[in-house]
Amino acid sequence: EAHKESHGFQTEAKQLLHLMIHSLYSNKEIFLRELVSNASDAADKLRFEALSKPELLADDPDLRIRIEFDKDEGTLSITDNGIGMSREEVVENLGTIARSGTAAFMQQLTGDQKKDAHLIGQFGVGFYSAFIVADKVEVFTRRAGLGAEQGVHWECHGEAEYTVETVEWPNRGTRVVLHLKDDAKEFADGWRLRSIIKKYSDHIAIPVEMPKESTGEGDDKAEQTPEFEAVNAAQALWTRPRSEIKSEEYKEFYKHVTHDFDDPLTWSHNRVEGKLDYTSLLYIPGRAPFDLYQREAARGLKLYVQRTFIMDDAEQFLPLYLRFVKGVLDSNDLPLNVSREILQKDRNTEAIKSALTKRVLDMLDKLAKKDVDQYQKFWDLFGNVMKEGPAEDYANRDKIAKLLRFSTTHTDEPVQNQSLEDYVGRMKDGQKYIYYVCADNFATAKSSPYLEVFRKKGIEVLLLTDHVDEWFVGHMHEFDGKPFQDVAKGALDLGDAETEEDKAEREKLEKEAGALVERVKAVLEGRVEEVRATTRLVDSPACLVVSEQDMGPQMRRILEQAGQ
Ligand code: ADP
Ligand code: MG
Repeated sequence: EAHKESHGFQTEAKQLLHLMIHSLYSNKEIFLRELVSNASDAADKLRFEALSKPELLADDPDLRIRIEFDKDEGTLSITDNGIGMSREEVVENLGTIARSGTAAFMQQLTGDQKKDAHLIGQFGVGFYSAFIVADKVEVFTRRAGLGAEQGVHWECHGEAEYTVETVEWPNRGTRVVLHLKDDAKEFADGWRLRSIIKKYSDHIAIPVEMPKESTGEGDDKAEQTPEFEAVNAAQALWTRPRSEIKSEEYKEFYKHVTHDFDDPLTWSHNRVEGKLDYTSLLYIPGRAPFDLYQREAARGLKLYVQRTFIMDDAEQFLPLYLRFVKGVLDSNDLPLNVSREILQKDRNTEAIKSALTKRVLDMLDKLAKKDVDQYQKFWDLFGNVMKEGPAEDYANRDKIAKLLRFSTTHTDEPVQNQSLEDYVGRMKDGQKYIYYVCADNFATAKSSPYLEVFRKKGIEVLLLTDHVDEWFVGHMHEFDGKPFQDVAKGALDLGDAETEEDKAEREKLEKEAGALVERVKAVLEGRVEEVRATTRLVDSPACLVVSEQDMGPQMRRILEQAGQ
């Protein structure tokens, strides 16, 4: 059992490691953020397990993280007294970078180091950032609840393999030892480390300690136990008053919670007291996760109960169409022993969900009003998910509708940046409907023959080209009292926007074309329901129209793809 084993990384993992080491080179210092973040997670996990097994904490109840360095040796260590890992867990957690997302990730790589570096953060390869600055990484760890003889020593040189060995280890928790590369020796420096901790890890809820700076004179090396002092604020960020938290702190906290490397687009931090008592800190990410459309993808908030970490990915507090939202919920109403099953039944869950949903919709509304560019970024990333909203959350349909953005004939640009309010503001006198055309892509939509008469009359039409669109308008029904109308469906009714002149023209045409219509009808007998003369075409001689009750072509294709 105690024997030393060598394990090889999988090919993909090797590639990833290589990329990691080389592409994050320009921002080396983030390794510390990642390792401190892991240590903090380990403390959270221990506290959670200790809820049912208090003995796990008993002999060493003050959770903390310690950072030490040795300038002469060129080493740096990060030590926590958190949950630790068993031998099995070490192999599982540190030996397989190839978690579920890795293959998908490798396919997305562009070869552009800067872009690729941004992709890395999503895949939870945080630990491996140690290799940005170290050519050898050692981990000493002992799982809470296991004896000293069940310590584990893991070692890796950042290449194809690593070793694991069972060793004596006196303390619960994990120590990561970095043997710094020649060009990273700068990190074995107290001042530098303190400033990095302040910058990235101030929000960590437990103390991040370093040895007290020596006072020079009288200080002798024989001193056995250095005194430690906290370098960070050591208070859970969301428990602090909003007015005292800097943007930078919110952004760093976001990165800690999400494992994202980029900044969020916006956030909303709220303390609620009264019937419900909770604090939420919700973020809109600045990037869509690769698995946004995968059903089993992890989503949801980090759940705390009275500041004790309970679980990651608590998905019960937000609807599916807001699954991109990240953040923290700290509740004082839920029981500490809450599980996913209990959550589903707890009546507070629904109430919090409904409040948080409104909170997110308001946050987006604010962003849309305050910063058009940022909002556009949001829409380009998550607009398609938001369009699932009207179907899932009928009650908030109006709020959601205001947040939607479309491509329309007003701009004739593929970018979706026109709101329904914009559209309604431009409606012609007497226009009753919000017109739309559905097509597979923008070019087809834009040149659709159905649009001819609308263009001629200057009536705006939404150009819908996303898969979800037809389904979405089906649930939207109307906006501001104006029903949605597919221009390709049924008889063309321009409402009162049809002038007397138009009407006369239509009637004249119907009379003139009567004979032709009869002949076409005869030829197409059994293949079409009806043949009609129409004023809806300007340049094209004829077009196919489906009746009002029929599925549109997009919907038909979706069902066909689904094998219906
Ligand atoms: P992530 O933090 O996103 O899960 P990492 O690559 O940072 O990914 O860490 C991988 C895993 O290794 C963690 O999920 C955890 O299980 C384990 N781990 C890393 N550092 C520690 C630590 N200090 N204590 C206990 N487990 C750890
Ligand atoms: Mg991590």
